[in-house]
Amino acid sequence: MNTTTASIAVEQTKNSRLNEVDFDNLGFGTYISDHMLVAQYDKGQWHEPKVMPFGNLPMSPAMLALHYGQAIFEGMKAFRMKDGKINIFRVKRHYQRMLKSLDRMCMPGMSEELFTSSLEAVVKADEKWIPKNEGCSLYIRPVVFASENKLGVKVSDQYLFVIMTSPVGPYFSKPVRLKVELEYVRAAEGGTGFAKCAGNYGGAFYPTQLAREQGFDQVIWTDAKEHKYIDESGAMNIMFVIDGKLVTPALSSSILDGVTRNTLSQLAKDMGVTVEERKVSIEEIEKSIQNGKLTEAFGAGTAAVVSPVATINIGGKDHHLPAVTDSALMMRLKKKLNDIRTGHEADVHGWNHII
Ligand SMILES: *Cc1c(COP(=O)(O)O)cnc(C)c1O
Repeated sequence: MNTTTASIAVEQTKNSRLNEVDFDNLGFGTYISDHMLVAQYDKGQWHEPKVMPFGNLPMSPAMLALHYGQAIFEGMKAFRMKDGKINIFRVKRHYQRMLKSLDRMCMPGMSEELFTSSLEAVVKADEKWIPKNEGCSLYIRPVVFASENKLGVKVSDQYLFVIMTSPVGPYFSKPVRLKVELEYVRAAEGGTGFAKCAGNYGGAFYPTQLAREQGFDQVIWTDAKEHKYIDESGAMNIMFVIDGKLVTPALSSSILDGVTRNTLSQLAKDMGVTVEERKVSIEEIEKSIQNGKLTEAFGAGTAAVVSPVATINIGGKDHHLPAVTDSALMMRLKKKLNDIRTGHEADVHGWNHII
């Protein structure tokens, strides 16, 4: 059956894989839903997107994205609310960030209407893939990449915008061991750190692998100039509770402006907690752990929401953090966020996009 959602054509799959999904053991990114959305950019404009069965796209080895790295993505989530409605969380904020990423990589912007209607169409097409179990959601992965085929170094004149989705389970990451990275750099001021571009990840793998071999889960990136101040951690922003205040590095061109970071900061303010966005030095973190003022550290990102930190290694020395309890600020923030997204608590900031 072919139907149309918000004027976007939908070619339904004839071979749904939904019955292969074990909704009690989703993991993260194990399954990709039946459909994807594809839109092409050519001759100066985006053309009609289309929802079609998920599958391979034809590709030339001369495709510019592979050679010169014009590729950006987003990561967001849709929820089944308690009244059965579907909620895509913070669509506008993800849209605005995507525009910044596209702009930094010399890639064409797109209208909010195209982005939003595309999300709605692909999520609706696979609405049966949205998990109902608590803590579960449909992860949404929009990606834009240069699709022109040419060997010369140039800004591509053609792009593809693809959205795929994946049902994901509750992400109870056990407290992680982080290594403060004092040699390698993820992003320098003036670089592409604030853009969600593929190359940032490509360059981060090697130092992250080294840290893994040394028994850490992730690195904490520091500023490129002096390795004195904390930027962020892996694919998550980093937040601390120091003296009862929520402290996180202020945004700069080398830090990704996380939607979760922004959301949790607002929720903390709503709870009456003081939030400080400022420079955070390694020295301050080391001292605050030693004198017991630093009570919590966690990564903030769409995948895990919060990822508690057990250990921070600075210059070869392990610093251990107190065990996380249910009354920890990070746990209260996480719960509040999930309650808002599923309709158990009022959405006073207008973050939910109900379709
Ligand atoms: C996506 C991402 C984050 C987290 O952003 P959210 O919008 O909260 O998911 C943090 N750091 C990096 C490098 C990222 O790519």
